[in-house]
Amino acid sequence: MKIVAVRTHLLEHRLSVPFESASMRFDRRAHVLVEVICDDGTIGWGECLGPARPNAAVVAAYTPWLIDENPLETEKIWARLYNALRDQGQRGLAVTALSGIDIALWDIKGKHFGVSVSMLLGGRFRDSVRAYATGSFKRDGVDRIEDNASEVARHRADGFHAAKIKIGFGVTEDLAVIRAVRNAAGPDMRLMIDANHGYDVIEAVRLGRAAARYDIDWFEEPVVPEQLGAYREVRAAQPIPVAGGETWHSRWGMREPVETRAVDILQPDLAGVGGFTEAKRVADMAALHGIRIVPHVWGTAVHIAAALQFMAAMVPNPVRVNPIEPILEFDRTDNPFRQAVVHSPIEHVNGVVQIPDAPGLGIEINRDALEQFRMGDA
Ligand SMILES: [Mg+2]
Repeated sequence: MKIVAVRTHLLEHRLSVPFESASMRFDRRAHVLVEVICDDGTIGWGECLGPARPNAAVVAAYTPWLIDENPLETEKIWARLYNALRDQGQRGLAVTALSGIDIALWDIKGKHFGVSVSMLLGGRFRDSVRAYATGSFKRDGVDRIEDNASEVARHRADGFHAAKIKIGFGVTEDLAVIRAVRNAAGPDMRLMIDANHGYDVIEAVRLGRAAARYDIDWFEEPVVPEQLGAYREVRAAQPIPVAGGETWHSRWGMREPVETRAVDILQPDLAGVGGFTEAKRVADMAALHGIRIVPHVWGTAVHIAAALQFMAAMVPNPVRVNPIEPILEFDRTDNPFRQAVVHSPIEHVNGVVQIPDAPGLGIEINRDALEQFRMGDA
């Protein structure tokens, strides 16, 4: 069995209402899927976290090292690709592109052996996970307090047990939003806040101390990801557990945050940290240090399926399965191709998502949707 072709599929949807986090403005949704084709007709799918075109360019740069290789040799291929760009790579797009390829190779491996990726990873501790609703960005032309509060009330009515909102737009305004959201959510719903590294230490500590009274599960990306000392200061100086990790790549990128306890909750992204091959190592490292893992997810059903396969196989700590962890990040913002790319959409029922157990990622790609949402040249 050998790889004969690697393709990328750039997908795009222009938003009718643009939205922003503290660090990024979105006027469209754009994601890239990776398709790896083998000589026996087996096809694997993956996805890369981050900007679609640059990721596709790096996947293309890796492709010469993939052709004629045995796709089952996931560890060997990972090492060879990482080494190919290592001197100028090590993180960022070099690893997000590698992640999309690695996910596709595990999809192939599962299809080849007729088992799900979670079985390949060692077995399924769970067949479903609770999801938390991600959204509540700052949307153009609407009152943020009212908008976020009504959105979280909708998530609650839809059965979600938890929701995450965006902050990082100024401490005073953010606190007013958090207060309104807690009122709309009621006392039992879990709430998380995500600053998308929009604060400095002083603002983050002030916000965290004042927001703690609203019973916040975690405070995500309070400060820029390069400043681990700042992370540790925020963690020490305010009471809300600190989360982060979506912009840290590979075991090397995760080592210092874990070893120095910069976070309480580590959020590796399957499509960013280095695929299944690397996420397994990162999860083992986090477990060694007693740090909770909640994977980050921001993409299509391919990305969600990868996270689900990984979460099925996450070793509980302690060994008794904890029914409340892990939880799946479930994006509720506008993206019509998120589920259209697969024939059977991955949906929640009362905030619970079933983990597919068909071979590989357990999904079937809808090629009509790839055409319908194909990114234009401009
Ligand atoms: Mg985040």
